Amino acid sequence: MSIRLHNTLTRQKDELVPLDKNNVRMYVCGPTVYDFAHIGNARPVIVFDVLYRLLRHVYGPDHVTYVRNITDIDDKINARAAETAAKKGITVEQARVEITGLTTQQYFDDVAALGCLPLPEKNTPRATEYVSGMIEMIGTLIAAGHAYAAEGHVLYDVSSKPDYGKLSRRSLDEMMAGARVEVAPYKKNPMDFVLWKPSDALTPGWESPWGRGRPGWHIECSVMGGALLGETFDIHGGGVDLMFPHHENEIAQSEGCHHGAPLANIWMHNGFLQVEGEKMSKSLGNFITINALLKDWPGEVLRLNMLRTHYRQPIDWTLAGLKESRRILEEWLLAAVPMSVLGAAPHEVSKRPIYPPLLEALSDDLNTPKAIAEIHKLRNSAFHHRSIGAANTVVEFSDALRFFGLLRDEVTDALDRIRPKASLPEEAISAFIAARTAARKAKNFAESDRIRDDLLAKGIVLMDGPTGTTWEVKK
Ligand code: AMP
Ligand code: ZN
Repeated sequence: MSIRLHNTLTRQKDELVPLDKNNVRMYVCGPTVYDFAHIGNARPVIVFDVLYRLLRHVYGPDHVTYVRNITDIDDKINARAAETAAKKGITVEQARVEITGLTTQQYFDDVAALGCLPLPEKNTPRATEYVSGMIEMIGTLIAAGHAYAAEGHVLYDVSSKPDYGKLSRRSLDEMMAGARVEVAPYKKNPMDFVLWKPSDALTPGWESPWGRGRPGWHIECSVMGGALLGETFDIHGGGVDLMFPHHENEIAQSEGCHHGAPLANIWMHNGFLQVEGEKMSKSLGNFITINALLKDWPGEVLRLNMLRTHYRQPIDWTLAGLKESRRILEEWLLAAVPMSVLGAAPHEVSKRPIYPPLLEALSDDLNTPKAIAEIHKLRNSAFHHRSIGAANTVVEFSDALRFFGLLRDEVTDALDRIRPKASLPEEAISAFIAARTAARKAKNFAESDRIRDDLLAKGIVLMDGPTGTTWEVKK
């Protein structure tokens, strides 16, 4: 099966032709770990997890290497560590280790809850583990005439790479006009970017030929990607905000160091996420973390909600969308219930063939809205087949849900998690219903209405029928 992916480099859908079919290699820029990840950060994780699943299915689970790094060296981390150190009376380095450790674990928990496959430890490299490689690459870049040392810094000389800007297709002049470039006396050109910078005694740093200091952000990815995936790999991904300057600079560094060998053949960028029509920001008060969302919504609902929009489009994250995603998922799971025991093990690519229209949709530049439409069709067929006692389509349907990362345990458990929860224990609700029935018998309608309205305010809807009163949680 051929997989076609939109390549930012060529601005068209290109067929994925792996450099090595026995080891298809993908790198996606991971989080900077100093705080909870927000729902925008979840977008690349979910999108590239779908691609990872597709690649594993097509090439075999053992023939795909997916690296997603952890940026644990960064000035925002250092600033947070300095605050914590002052508050707790510990060193900045101790605070940095504590913050990055806790945040990384939280991130792994969040992405697991979103149904993303876990990556082997070695494929989630921390920048701190690769500093010596960064020093080495910077040395190579200096020797090759692509970088220069000045006042404790090392800078990449963008004028040394005539095709600098080829990913974002911008000339140096356009970049300078559009970017907030830091003008510094030690830079030859304002667009030159930092490979290494000095650290004062209180700031985390490593010894280097240019003095004690720390790497810039871009070099971290070039080194981790190169170390784990080789000079050239198949796919490089991240959010569209990273195209310039981060990915442009990764290309300049890696190609500069590897005699022009391309860093990646296909570059993929997911569109941005906004919340209820507005850019998400702490100052607007609409900054939502994955962790906070998971308190109210099961991870599968968040995942489906993300995938209902094609990854290259902007996505508007809304409460209405989440409710609709939950409704869809509940409808789907209901159709998968009776045959669930025949489903594959959690987090395993099924041994059975996956519904071909689903794979076709995903192979066309990860067309998840189309894939979801196909799952809808399959669900209708499963529903029909279940009613006539034929299991095959139901199994195929639950396999499709598992493949898409929307089902990872027993269907009944998933349904339990997905359905809105009552805010009162069942016994309390039964007691209120009994009190209301008594009030109605005594013709005390003011009291019976009050009980009904009180329960409704708590999200519990009463329904009177010929056999008595039943209830359900308001949707
Ligand atoms: P960061 O930790 O800010 O470097 O972001 C980690 C990943 O999340 C990168 O791939 C970003 O492009 C992506 N990202 C950050 N904010 C958003 C957003 N609002 N919408 C979509 N992707 C985002
Ligand atoms: Zn990166």
